[in-house]
Amino acid sequence: MRLMATCLCVFFFVAANHSFAESDALGRLRGYIEVDTVNPPGNESRGVDYLAAIFDAAGVAYETAESAPGRGNIWARLKGGDKPALLLLHHIDVVPATRETWDSDPLQAVVKNGSLYGRGTLDTKSLGIMQLEAFLALHKSQAIRDRDVVFMATADEEAGGLFGAGWMIKNRPDAFADVGFLLNEGGLGRRAGEQVFFSIEVAQKRPYWLRLVATDEPGHGSMPQSTSAPVRLIIALNNIQQAPFEPRITPAVREMFRQLAPFTEPKWSEQLLNIDDSIGDPDFLKSFQREQPALHALIRNTCSITMLIGSQKINVVPPVVSAELDCRILPDQDADEFLQAIKSRVNDNNISVEEIMLFGAAESSTDNALYLALEDITRKYYPGAGVITTVAAGFTDSHFFRDLGIASYGYAPMVIPDDAMTSIHGNNERIGVETFEKGVQMMTELVERFATR
Ligand SMILES: [Zn+2]
Repeated sequence: MRLMATCLCVFFFVAANHSFAESDALGRLRGYIEVDTVNPPGNESRGVDYLAAIFDAAGVAYETAESAPGRGNIWARLKGGDKPALLLLHHIDVVPATRETWDSDPLQAVVKNGSLYGRGTLDTKSLGIMQLEAFLALHKSQAIRDRDVVFMATADEEAGGLFGAGWMIKNRPDAFADVGFLLNEGGLGRRAGEQVFFSIEVAQKRPYWLRLVATDEPGHGSMPQSTSAPVRLIIALNNIQQAPFEPRITPAVREMFRQLAPFTEPKWSEQLLNIDDSIGDPDFLKSFQREQPALHALIRNTCSITMLIGSQKINVVPPVVSAELDCRILPDQDADEFLQAIKSRVNDNNISVEEIMLFGAAESSTDNALYLALEDITRKYYPGAGVITTVAAGFTDSHFFRDLGIASYGYAPMVIPDDAMTSIHGNNERIGVETFEKGVQMMTELVERFATR
């Protein structure tokens, strides 16, 4: 099965190459898209082999490490002066895609109407190839480097990064020696009418994943007792659902909304500029959550009820049931205080609240040479573009590095139209070919400028 798929890919790749001339970068992206690294299971070592062959051909030394069979990571370092090193990071894995809901095979790189289609064309193999091209150009360049530059491609980001970036930090700390700066996914360019604005992500809400476990006497479904584990759990979840956390504007979010206001519909811009007042209005809060859920998530701690585990049989009242909550807390939220707030909503001694996962609090400063270089390069290639410092509601691998004190920025030099944004983790994922080529140029110039004299 795998062999056959590979053969087909090669055939299409060669056939397509005859129909138009393409850059090395686009060819490499096409090849990378066709390497099946769908997670689960990941199989990132296939991507490692693909990138290793490119490094071999270019004469660049690299290292690889598997965190588990098939879960590969690869990195290479160009030595320079003793300024803090720059790490260019992307993840090799991609999320699954269903052939039936796509116009073409998600694991084939198909160019149509000026766009390249395939799983990973936005998230995040295109950024990976932009970084790779910049790295190879720097390797070839005669310019004198005043800092090291590290290229790294990791496994498992789409499932939390514990077999990728998280594993590398624990097991191969040498790969991060002297690293002071990181560029990763998490920010990109958007259009608002005629205007273009780029986001540079500097902080994230922190996942605080919790499990509620309710216990009580088991019994037969035909004879309900006055209490039961399922009823206890439902009451507790209802209490949580009915008492949302108070909105609170952190300095980073206030600043983000101020910068974002000119690029939003008039209906929202005034509210964003006066967000401290706006949150006092319950009607605003309701419509904000309904129509702008991604922005609304930034103004309060939130919990989504996701997993529910109960009886396996309809007539058995189970002695133990559980629910998992995907809570996301504001970057500066005290985690203990938040846990107490959850426990007081649960308010039942037969329910325990267990911690599944909590990330640390960290935010990257905008007051350094890399952030300024990102602003400069953006405005050079997209004159008049807005540049917005953003806080993300979700998370990427950047949190691992912010925890180490590395100034980390989510930034991809590409402007993505609204209709293509939904293709990330969705159907017909695609990037404009011109957008990609321009991104390669931008990344190359950025890295050269930041890392050489
Ligand atoms: Zn991603």
